[in-house]
Amino acid sequence: MQIPLSSPDITDIEINAVISVLKTPSLSLGPKLPEFEKIVADYIEVKHAVAVNSGTSALHLIVKSLGLSEGDEVITSPFSFIASSNCLLFEKVHPVFTDIDPITYNIDVNQIEKKITKKTKAILVVDVFGLPADWEKLQQIAEANNLLLIEDSCEALGAEHKSQKVGGFGDAGCFAFYPNKQITTGEGGVIVTNNDNIAKLSRSLRNQGRLEEEGWLQHPILGYNYRLSDINCALGIAQMQRIGEILAKREKVASLYNERLKRMEPLELPPLSSSNLKRSWFVYVVKLCSKYSKQDRKRILTGLREKGIGCNNYFPPIHLQPFYVEKYGYKNGDFPITESVAERTIALPFFNNLSEGQINYVVDNLRTLL
Ligand SMILES: *Cc1c(COP(=O)(O)O)cnc(C)c1O
Repeated sequence: MQIPLSSPDITDIEINAVISVLKTPSLSLGPKLPEFEKIVADYIEVKHAVAVNSGTSALHLIVKSLGLSEGDEVITSPFSFIASSNCLLFEKVHPVFTDIDPITYNIDVNQIEKKITKKTKAILVVDVFGLPADWEKLQQIAEANNLLLIEDSCEALGAEHKSQKVGGFGDAGCFAFYPNKQITTGEGGVIVTNNDNIAKLSRSLRNQGRLEEEGWLQHPILGYNYRLSDINCALGIAQMQRIGEILAKREKVASLYNERLKRMEPLELPPLSSSNLKRSWFVYVVKLCSKYSKQDRKRILTGLREKGIGCNNYFPPIHLQPFYVEKYGYKNGDFPITESVAERTIALPFFNNLSEGQINYVVDNLRTLL
């Protein structure tokens, strides 16, 4: 049996939506762009959504639109996909890492205030693996210390903190639509915000610095080509129309895994939704208990792959990536919780249409290897 780590859920609805755009002359900057933005903004319940060509571009434009610049500091997590920290380096802003909570894997809110200096301008928080961060506390900290709040919700479309969707808690938030995310546009991302100015600037920056009211080829500011084509937007609209069904399928796969794995002693399972928190499942990541070493994990990953099961470690810490080590001199031991979690995680196959039979196959092989 071959089971991939992830797989997009593309039906005839998506295929037909893409084909109909191809039959029009508007392949980019056409009607599907505002239509996709509206469906996302309405879903997150924010005023503006600005679609761009990746989640990384969305993060970069948030950093630019908020006016963060050389020498500023932003507090963020070393346990994330590297883009959440790289977007700061693009603008010579310094990421100041804070260790994570060992259960939720989200930034440890109790350690943030210690990291604030005169140069701190913002907190950039990731809803890791689709579990909402403690947004209430984060809003309090940002307000009390006069800091901007940026949400990297790229892994958490549809997740809720106290019935409010993530993405709308800070000054600006973003989502990503690479094929392993909850919904996909092939490649793509979106900035969400209630701030008119951030929305206006992001729209201009994604399109070479043009301002909407100015004429053709007027570029008052330095911008980029971060546009998302109407082909991608049509795919996104079709996926958003199925978002309820998509999230429910993911929830079902995660519950089946939890059910099958809960009596397997050496594993720590991911937290499920609770009364205050609705998780949106991005990946299904289990953690080996402390008696297992990094070598043991390697053996288990290899063993699963030999059985045709897609799996991976998730995430290697950002501060230990070679160019962060070179630039900032980070070493092992700097963020001990991040490192100990990173050494023991295993992401199992996880996608909408993973069948019960496939889940049983993964679980049986994992049990044998443990
Ligand atoms: C996926 C992801 C992004 C953006 O990724 P792109 O590949 O650029 O779309 C950013 N941050 C996190 C935490 C992510 O998981």
